[in-house]
Amino acid sequence: MTNPLLHRRFNLPKKPIIIAGPCSVESREQFFSTLQGLELSKIDYVRGGIWKPRTRPGSFEGIGEAAFDWIEEAKATFGIKFATEVATAEHVETALKNGVSMLWLGARTTVNPFNVQEIAEALRGVEIPVYVKNPINPDLSLWKGALERLLKCDVLNLGAIHRGFQTFQESKYRNTPLWQIPMELKSEFPDLPLLCDPSHMGGKRSLITVLSQRALDLDYDGLMIETHIDPDKALSDSAQQLNPDDFKLLLDHLIFRNHTSKDEDFINQLEIIREQIDQADREILEAIATRLSLVEKIGEYKKENNVAIFQISRWKEILQSRPEWAKAMNLDPEFIRELYRHIHQQSVRIQTSIFNTEQDKQPND
Ligand code: PEP
Ligand code: MN
Repeated sequence: MTNPLLHRRFNLPKKPIIIAGPCSVESREQFFSTLQGLELSKIDYVRGGIWKPRTRPGSFEGIGEAAFDWIEEAKATFGIKFATEVATAEHVETALKNGVSMLWLGARTTVNPFNVQEIAEALRGVEIPVYVKNPINPDLSLWKGALERLLKCDVLNLGAIHRGFQTFQESKYRNTPLWQIPMELKSEFPDLPLLCDPSHMGGKRSLITVLSQRALDLDYDGLMIETHIDPDKALSDSAQQLNPDDFKLLLDHLIFRNHTSKDEDFINQLEIIREQIDQADREILEAIATRLSLVEKIGEYKKENNVAIFQISRWKEILQSRPEWAKAMNLDPEFIRELYRHIHQQSVRIQTSIFNTEQDKQPND
């Protein structure tokens, strides 16, 4: 099946695109005072949850359609563009009827292809931007699948939002970033706008600056950040929302990176360093080739002497000594341990094929 995403050009927004606003629209007072506190000239879209997907029943589930009266008034008063999450076809219909400027599918929706299909059909042909948050679980194909379903319904103004993933490992994050997954999405679809949502990723205020900067350093196209006039009293996600003053400090503090530079000195210097990296990579590959030819030699030798391939004590020694050597060279020992797992797997594979050659031949001999 050809991938419809592959040949598509997306509308890259002006960079960076900033989305801010409360997790949920709670009351006219809360929404308006949050907007009054925010520097709206620096914000492209104001977010606000109208329908809230909550893990447990009985939590605040959003104001629902009635919130659009306040939003209409806020649009007239502040000239904002409003963005919200849709989780059903009915939400889509209500949001479009009320003139939203941008929509997104939440993480709990992206995991469910039936849901996504229903939403895609309700959105057929809309021109406003529609963003897809990553699914809760670390599955790139679900994320791509949701984008493809929208595309097939002629929802062409698409983008993706990275909000982190649930993993079963202990983590300081509410949702672990796993940056390599969105980077894979971006390398397959370079012009698909990609935003980061550090609020749901971090789950607490103290992590938002570092996560936002990390995303900008990785060339993300923008940020979606939850902001509330009085976060401690928020009816949802109170630990992760920033008050308008802290949000201003954050924006002042962040360093927005350029995608690239046209400066000739920069380009020349980059070229020189890249050549040095190419040379270092050749040396690494030569060293790996040498190691693997020694592995072949040792494999032959073990076989001649009828000794097993896998020697647990030797493997334990390698797994201990290499990270130690690495540490002395200022390399991350965990990275080297992981690297040696791959090298060791390949070494076992090579020796296994040496041991098997004669048996493989036997049936034909
Ligand atoms: C939200 O944006 O308020 C939300 C519920 O996010 P997520 O889908 O990332 O959990
Ligand atoms: Mn939220």
